Amino acid sequence: MDKEMRQPLIVGNWKMNGGLSDSIRLVTNLKNQLNEKNQVEVVVAPPFTSLHSVSIAISETKIRLAGQNMFWEESGAYTGEISGLFLKESGCDFVILGHSERRQFFKESDEQINLKVQAACKSELIPILCIGEKLKERQAKETLNVVEKQLKIGLKDLAIHDFETIVIAYEPVWAIGTGETPQTEQIEEVHHFIRGWLKRYFDAPTANMTRLLYGGSVQPENAASLMQIDEVDGLLVGGASLHTEDFIKIIHFEENR
Ligand code: PEP
Repeated sequence: MDKEMRQPLIVGNWKMNGGLSDSIRLVTNLKNQLNEKNQVEVVVAPPFTSLHSVSIAISETKIRLAGQNMFWEESGAYTGEISGLFLKESGCDFVILGHSERRQFFKESDEQINLKVQAACKSELIPILCIGEKLKERQAKETLNVVEKQLKIGLKDLAIHDFETIVIAYEPVWAIGTGETPQTEQIEEVHHFIRGWLKRYFDAPTANMTRLLYGGSVQPENAASLMQIDEVDGLLVGGASLHTEDFIKIIHFEENR
């Protein structure tokens, strides 16, 4: 299966921006402006407290819902945590895991992220596993080692059928929210490496099903060229997903080429 066979996926991560009324405003604008004939799969990740209401708002559309994080236990004395079952019950099909902000501010380790990835699959959520190097690591030519470690630990002990849906997002930390995007060759190198690693670790048919996203300062102006890069099957969008016009232009990238 090659790139043409994998449905493009564009995910908007709203992070901790806006409460319920902002989420409803954003998703209503998105619904109204989205060309439903578009072949791109569109996912939004609002804050937890907006999930249920947003799921009702998108129930008649093809837009799908993601959590921004979850805990690996199903329930119990874990104050402040949210389980995969709760996300599922709130209407989510996806969950973003291992985002660099979780790694940086909440000190999430690859081992903890792996427990979350496993728990997500058990709850029938599609994990969007985020990986990527920091600027210092790139400068030290450590990028591929960092990415390999994140993959190796993050995807440990998964069943092969989990890979039929899992999504991997390559997000160089230095490109997130900075306005800086890597050169095409840099993205291509890492995406090729990830696909190759998946082929070696699992098998070619499985690796060829996995959608690989790029994330980091995606804007309407660069979406089409990013989507043209070999092995880039979609985009994970932060800041620009909070501006419906921009997010729509990114989703409709083919029309804006
Ligand atoms: C992100 O946070 O995953 C992200 C890619 O953010 P931005 O698009 O704002 O760089």
